[in-house]
Amino acid sequence: MIRIAIDGPSGAGKSSIAKAVAARLGIVYVDTGALYRTVGYFVRSKGFARTDIEGIVSCLPHIKIEVRYENGAQHVYLNGEDLGDRIREPEISMYASAVSAVPAVRDFLLDTQRDIAAKNSVIMDGRDIGTVILPHADVKIFMTASNEARAMRRTKELLAKGMEANYEDVLREMIERDNNDRNRAVAPAVAAPDAVLLDNSDMSIEENVEAVLAIIREKSGVTV
Ligand code: C5P
Repeated sequence: MIRIAIDGPSGAGKSSIAKAVAARLGIVYVDTGALYRTVGYFVRSKGFARTDIEGIVSCLPHIKIEVRYENGAQHVYLNGEDLGDRIREPEISMYASAVSAVPAVRDFLLDTQRDIAAKNSVIMDGRDIGTVILPHADVKIFMTASNEARAMRRTKELLAKGMEANYEDVLREMIERDNNDRNRAVAPAVAAPDAVLLDNSDMSIEENVEAVLAIIREKSGVTV
């Protein structure tokens, strides 16, 4: 069993790289942001404001989240329904960031994340994987890139999904979300002291995958 934690701000390319690395290693890729997005989606669908902490907490008993792996891809079910790309909308990103600062929401999602890692070899991406969820992970990486590089990637990703996206808006919302995530009181998005920092602003996807594999080889001794 191997457990690899990849943390870092939005748009750092964590999910694309972690997916590719999971395929190379034959292990499970876990996208933890999808869980916070799913909670955010539910809260919004009930008409609560992002700032309504009581409203957010009151939703939790009505949420059942299940994570399933179908043909190697992660699907998150909210009360039995797979929301697909609906959780990727920019407004849901902002809701995800808001609900993720509420301690009750983090507690609510803790066991789901730890259970997957207890049963499978995983590469898990998020904001607090190396610090809170898997503090004993075999390998911890904190991936970053410049604000401009991240906003450009996120804009292209949204456009490729057929969603509306404008670079300036994406950049502004991304900076707001990063600030929320980095400065919150619980599980702030910061590097674990034993994480390897990787700035991929000037790397291609292939170079980034190779850089991550090199760190994994060095830290865990696996041969890939
Ligand atoms: O990774 P992604 O952008 O999908 O995450 C959406 C939001 O969920 C983040 O902005 C962050 O606020 C929250 N999140 C978190 N902890 C994680 C993963 C995501 O707080 N482990």
